[in-house]
Amino acid sequence: MTDFATLDTAQQTYRIADIAAAAGEDLTHLPVILRILLENVLRHAGEDGGAAAAAILAWLTHGRSDREITFYPSRVLMHDTTCGPAFVDIAGLRASLAEAGGDPKRLNPVIPVDVSTDHSIGVDVFAHPNAMKLNMQHELKRNGERYRFMKWASAALDNVRVHPPGTGIMHTLNLERLASVVTSVTRDGTVWAAPDTLIGTDSHTPMINGIGVLAWGVGGLEAESVMFGMPVTMRVPDVVGVRLTGRLREGLLATDLALTVTERLRRIDLADRFVEFFGPGVSALSTGDRAVVANMAPEFGANSGYFPIDARTLEYLTQTGRSPPQIELIEAYARRQRLWFDPEASPRYTETITLDLDKVEVSFAGPRRPQDRIAASRTVDALAAVLNNNAAMGGGEPRDGAVAIAAITSCTNTSDPRLLIAAGLLARRARQFGLTPPAWVKTSLAPGSPTAERYLRRAGLLDDLEALGFGIVGYGCMTCIGNSGPLTPAMANAVRDRGIAPVAVLSGNRNFPGRVHSQIELSFLASPPMVVACALAGDVRRDILRDPIGRNAAGDEIRLADLWPTGVEIDAVLATAREVGDYADAYNAAEASADWAAFEAPASALFPWDEASTYIRRPPFANLGNGTRLGRYTAAPLLVVGDDVTTDHISPAGAIPANSEAGDYLIARGEDQHDLNVFASRRGNWEVMLRGLFTNKSARNLLAPDLVPGTTIHAGSGERLSLRIAAERYAKEGRSVVLVAGERYGMGSSRDWAAKGVALLGVRSVLALSFERIHRSNLIGMGILPLRLPRDRRPQDLGLHPDDVIEIDALPEAIRPRAEVSVQILRQGSRLDSFVAVSAVETGLESETLRAGGLLPLMLRRAQSESELNSRVLSVDECGIRD
Ligand code: SF4
Repeated sequence: MTDFATLDTAQQTYRIADIAAAAGEDLTHLPVILRILLENVLRHAGEDGGAAAAAILAWLTHGRSDREITFYPSRVLMHDTTCGPAFVDIAGLRASLAEAGGDPKRLNPVIPVDVSTDHSIGVDVFAHPNAMKLNMQHELKRNGERYRFMKWASAALDNVRVHPPGTGIMHTLNLERLASVVTSVTRDGTVWAAPDTLIGTDSHTPMINGIGVLAWGVGGLEAESVMFGMPVTMRVPDVVGVRLTGRLREGLLATDLALTVTERLRRIDLADRFVEFFGPGVSALSTGDRAVVANMAPEFGANSGYFPIDARTLEYLTQTGRSPPQIELIEAYARRQRLWFDPEASPRYTETITLDLDKVEVSFAGPRRPQDRIAASRTVDALAAVLNNNAAMGGGEPRDGAVAIAAITSCTNTSDPRLLIAAGLLARRARQFGLTPPAWVKTSLAPGSPTAERYLRRAGLLDDLEALGFGIVGYGCMTCIGNSGPLTPAMANAVRDRGIAPVAVLSGNRNFPGRVHSQIELSFLASPPMVVACALAGDVRRDILRDPIGRNAAGDEIRLADLWPTGVEIDAVLATAREVGDYADAYNAAEASADWAAFEAPASALFPWDEASTYIRRPPFANLGNGTRLGRYTAAPLLVVGDDVTTDHISPAGAIPANSEAGDYLIARGEDQHDLNVFASRRGNWEVMLRGLFTNKSARNLLAPDLVPGTTIHAGSGERLSLRIAAERYAKEGRSVVLVAGERYGMGSSRDWAAKGVALLGVRSVLALSFERIHRSNLIGMGILPLRLPRDRRPQDLGLHPDDVIEIDALPEAIRPRAEVSVQILRQGSRLDSFVAVSAVETGLESETLRAGGLLPLMLRRAQSESELNSRVLSVDECGIRD
């Protein structure tokens, strides 16, 4: 029997699921994350609350558990390039349901879904007084059809709210505006108070963990099922505790800490685990610091990087304009439910790590992975390790290591006002010394929200940044997601004519080769002021901490120490620059976009598909499908790849080249070959996405050393074909195909197209040494069985030939969490190898999904039978924020 109680604030009496009563003395030992999960199962379990609580409390015995729980997040967060395919799926499901004689409106979100329009805007124009306006014009022109579709979705579907272009990056919007931290939920006339929880179709969703909101990133398919009222099913998770001690030294910034945490935690296996920060060092961090660290949870490999609620959280919420009654509710609820942070507490964790904040140093990460942190002075060594040519800079032209892009970008760091103020102060000093970046550097400032402009302008720092080329180019992901636009002519010529290897320096969280720009293989992550410093230096072939980075008019050498602001200076400026009213004013102005209002959208429950559209096509998988992909079968290896294959490698997000299969397809349909837009904006068109698979130039098919990315060798004929054509050939021949991969397959972003595309190739199973969490779930969502290879079966060493046959015994009835699956490799009819792989399936619902052939057929079947869908109708009042 579940324990319920009441909580009184000055405004209201709330009903609460009483976790202290349910857990008793054990509550002290539970990590805060598990307290939130406990509340969730209690509130949703009704009379079964006692059993649900027992499943979580049993975790305390060993600090881990195999028990399965369900979790109902209170809301969903998406962005324009993940909501697009999700809404296209829903439009496709509605069409299939209507064709089968059902009511399409039965497929409707039952919890709030917020969509930010941030992932498409590019840096077409920079260092220009009208850069932001011009970039926004390009954005609206390029993406008009998609945006009209999003407007259709927000009108046709319940509970969907779209935040138009110019409202900022989803995670900043969530931090500054959407998150209520403690939410009130009205159910059957009773007003409940409960933790604000969410899932987001973006791997950096855990940024909101910085203010005590439990959230993590999921694939679009899982989000679709959650918005339709299905729970997230999961094992009671492992929770790794990171004990923070000490405090950051003078001059150190949140970025340095986040890169240090990423380096440290990436050394341990955090797959499918949650991280919670505790200990006295937490109190020494601002909420901005915490959010920057939490943002990089996917880079350190965890589901979350959770910081509990404390006085600093309330201070931040007040500064960002949350109402006094809401602040009162948060504090009262957190204290009553023992979610309030106690620096002396030491709960039980699956594993505990200690990190001393005093030891953090000024850092970069790169040049190829975010976990490769280096001391800021060591960029020259990091470059030497990857470049053959060690020629020094000189002659006034860019050489290897020259900074092609210096971008203050990304939700990671631009959401923390201290970091932007620090960049502005450094720019101010540089300007006083007369320093400017060389002409080859492409400079930009793309804050996470329009609020940043207000405090930077009020402090007079926007003028200083603009003087150095760091004027605001827009509010969105921009360079961080690879929409960095063309390089400067000087740099483009140097790359084309002399083949130099330039670098990008950005305040983002990812630097995989080609992510930031297709011509840039080497990128360094650093704090916003460090980005400005590197732009001024023009290259990273120097000790940025000690070597001169420029000269003043008198010819004196200027070093970083002459420019770097102190913590006291940053805080003093911030105290006068920021006003509480800025947040609501800036967002309200952006939400009232006349351009957005001018988009006309169809008003109908069913979306009117247009055969001529190159953006939105009815997806071939949003229907009941052909049944399960499980079974006992033999398959050809369509593709064999090595370690660290990211979702960027699998399904690119960046520009669509004119000389590519996807380009050919679009040009044949009348699109301008000079402006084909980016793959991320075409995710509503499966034909385009299919043609982009594995075409990233770093994606190597190990079936032959000289295979062009995106191609394979067809077994039998030996012909070299694009993956799409080879897959079509195999399908016609009635032959199955599989994909073989190394460690961490599917790392990177949450994009479900990396799984949808592989499903369209007909792949029945992916055999990998290990999977990144979200991608593993996306594969299952598309009905593809992820199989873990034994540690001694590295794909690189298996020596697979195109003609080899892989025999897999995965009958539907045998597939359950971590089931053993026998695999044999045959060459010319003889057995070459045999081993046991393990199904990377974690829950019963995942097994059911695989048996149904994927989540979309499963949801459609449930909708047809009028079962669980729409049965859990809640009305969520986000305490005045949703009005
Ligand atoms: S990490 Fe980059 S791409 Fe992802 S939401 Fe943040 S800014 Fe956008």
